[in-house]
Amino acid sequence: MKNIKKYLIILLIFSIFSSLLLHSSIIKRMSVQFSDFILISKNIYVDPQMKKTEYENIVSLVHKAKQRIIDKFGAFSSSPIIIFTNSSKMAKEYGTNDFGSAIRVPWNQYVVFGPKGQNIDIVAHELLHAEIGDRLGYITTQFKLPVWIDEGIGMQVDYRKKYLININSISQNEIDRVTSTGTSQIINANPFWSGGKEQVIRNYQISKTLVTKILAQDLNQSLYEMLDKVKKLEKFEDVFSLKP
Ligand SMILES: [Zn+2]
Repeated sequence: MKNIKKYLIILLIFSIFSSLLLHSSIIKRMSVQFSDFILISKNIYVDPQMKKTEYENIVSLVHKAKQRIIDKFGAFSSSPIIIFTNSSKMAKEYGTNDFGSAIRVPWNQYVVFGPKGQNIDIVAHELLHAEIGDRLGYITTQFKLPVWIDEGIGMQVDYRKKYLININSISQNEIDRVTSTGTSQIINANPFWSGGKEQVIRNYQISKTLVTKILAQDLNQSLYEMLDKVKKLEKFEDVFSLKP
């Protein structure tokens, strides 16, 4: 047990330092309150280049996205720092793409959006990642949460049509490929996000469909109860298992 703890602490320190070294964007995010980004509502910062007339839309968008999560899963209790950038360049500086991403560090979570991220599907998806992170805690999220489950859950509040597929179109090989992509998210190097654009879209489609099926298998058990079970040291593979 002692050894496991030691191992986890070393992994944690390694992950923090590798994250900091590889992503100066982490430092940007951490210091957003000291930057020229504007705080327009609690925990919501926007790019100074953004027009003031857009502020209201952004606050309302975040509110609607949280409400979508509440309607679907019963609650939204996370309070990540939310950052909206206004250009691809700024999005990159803050560690995301043109759309957005949720970034977890041991002491906080950041949800950063790019210029194309002002969309309820994208905002709800990323905010749900933050909720998952809060419920599981940093260590479990970072080292035990399979990426396909994380993304599959995020996709449950992301209704973009291009991610909708028929479950019958998924081959066993594809299921095996997606469900064996592992847990590493530290430097976004997980195979879930590699193989080209089409392949990555397919991975999202498959993870969405599989998680929808898993959640529908036992309607007496909510997503948050399932996450609680994992937190109480049950295995992800057991709690989120696909029944034939
Ligand atoms: Zn996602």
